Amino acid sequence: MKTVRFCILGAGPSGLAFAAALKRAGCDSFLVLEKQAEAGGLCRSAMVDGSPLDVGGGHFLDLRRVRALELLFEFMPRDEWREYRRISTIRIRGVEIEHPLEGNLWQFATSDQLDFLESIARAGCVRGEPEPATFDSWIRWKLGDRIAEEYMLPYNRKLWSLPLSDLGIDWLHKLPSVSFREVLLSVLQRKSQGTLPAHGRFLYPRAHGYGEVWRRIAQSLSDRFIPSYSLRSIDMEKRIIDGAIKAEFIVNTIPWTLWPRLTELPEAIRNAVASLVHTGVHVDYHPENVASAAHWIYEPRESEGHHRLLLRHNFCEGARGHWTETNARRSRAPDGTRFVNEFAYPVSTLGKSEAIGAIVDWFRGRGIIGIGRWGTWEHINSDVAVDLALKAAEECLGS
Ligand SMILES: Cc1cc2nc3c(=O)[nH]c(=O)nc-3n(C[C@H](O)[C@H](O)[C@H](O)COP(=O)(O)OP(=O)(O)OC[C@H]3O[C@@H](n4cnc5c(N)ncnc54)[C@H](O)[C@@H]3O)c2cc1C
Repeated sequence: MKTVRFCILGAGPSGLAFAAALKRAGCDSFLVLEKQAEAGGLCRSAMVDGSPLDVGGGHFLDLRRVRALELLFEFMPRDEWREYRRISTIRIRGVEIEHPLEGNLWQFATSDQLDFLESIARAGCVRGEPEPATFDSWIRWKLGDRIAEEYMLPYNRKLWSLPLSDLGIDWLHKLPSVSFREVLLSVLQRKSQGTLPAHGRFLYPRAHGYGEVWRRIAQSLSDRFIPSYSLRSIDMEKRIIDGAIKAEFIVNTIPWTLWPRLTELPEAIRNAVASLVHTGVHVDYHPENVASAAHWIYEPRESEGHHRLLLRHNFCEGARGHWTETNARRSRAPDGTRFVNEFAYPVSTLGKSEAIGAIVDWFRGRGIIGIGRWGTWEHINSDVAVDLALKAAEECLGS
């Protein structure tokens, strides 16, 4: 039996950042168990057609979380990254308009601007109606019927492939914030308005894919990182993994929905876990360049399977081609290189906050700490995942 202070399940950004924080603090008593042959989780990259491709979808490093950046720059110094001002667009009415649509209506022809402005002016939020509790109603309330029907409803039906009335509104800090006043100002000034939640400016590696920095962190852990690990059972009371590793704390970054296969859970927790919903994403490579200056394009047309195109030739130095992201439920047989991500988005369904709160508290009481995208069931970005992992490691070391 090997005894460690921390056994970390999963070597995505969260597990790796937690491990790196332990090392920084002089704690070597840990192991990181990873199912895949490589570290990085959704942030891994592979070489495709002579250049890197991010297998979990388009991944860009936001610039605002200083502690997360400091950690990543220890492994991939700042001068190995190139900074970009985001250009992302939406395909709508036969043209490409910059994101967020409501802050860039001035890019349409005048008659289209009028359509959208008139519709937003009638939106519930402008007329002082109370905020609805479900995502589909919220879209109409916030943006009016035109943007709802031509962009936000079809785009989100594609992205989530779930009834949008099943989604709550507690995750909407992930969406751009543009007030009605800013909508009007943007049209009058012919200038983008509003605040983006992330990636207004971002970094992407000059000579690698986004996966490289995570690969280097894992490499620095030497034999404490165990790839291609097949997790079979967890003894909850004694915190023994596969009858072979005894841990003071288990740090869980893998989906809670995998746990019922590993251990016995009480009925209430089993039911809470069963209520958690996730979606999968297929990433398909296409060698053609796309005639656009955008780094990525949102595709709301439901006649197209994919919901987003990533124009690799516009952010990956020396590369050609693009890739598409498609919800696994909408995806058809691939006609080229495909990467399958079974666990891509944790979904903020109604009642999720209560379920995940109960799960996290119950496990924490048994020395099992849930962190990251799957431990919190929030679709956080990697810089947020790193920040939260650093804080969690400090708390555990101090306890
Ligand atoms: C399409 C898409 C686009 C995104 N774009 C961005 C972006 O532009 N910028 C950004 O910062 N973030 C982005 N993200 C979010 C980013 O991917 C996550 O924030 C990050 O990967 C979270 O890290 P994590 O370690 O919590 O989870 P994950 O990356 O999912 O890592 C979990 C790890 O657990 C492992 N695991 C699972 N089951 C087991 C098991 N049974 N045993 C052992 N290990 C197991 C997995 O293999 C994986 O390595 C995007 C995500 C998606 C899906």
